[in-house]
Amino acid sequence: MDALDFGQLESRIKDRMRQLEGELAESKSLSSKKLEQDDDPAADLDLTISSSVDEKVLAEHKAELKRLSRNLLWLESEEAGLCRFCDCEIPMKRLLAVPDTQVCINCAD
Ligand SMILES: [Zn+2]
Repeated sequence: MDALDFGQLESRIKDRMRQLEGELAESKSLSSKKLEQDDDPAADLDLTISSSVDEKVLAEHKAELKRLSRNLLWLESEEAGLCRFCDCEIPMKRLLAVPDTQVCINCAD
């Protein structure tokens, strides 16, 4: 695998991280909105329901961010682009499609 491919993957990972960080920042501003509307029970209930969904998405986003930053380090290492389980070379197409993975499509199943 040549260095150019990794550069493309690296910017793909960084783009995705920026996107996730943006969404995390947005949901933070939603929970502060919830505090402002505390005197309205109906509105509060609405926001409580949506924020419990948000928390799940939030946790997923945080986990994905962790995997993405881990993969940035991975790309600098000797094992860059190699499947964690079977040591095969993961196709760049898969890495670009799922930039937070470290396993090939066979091992992912
Ligand atoms: Zn594998």
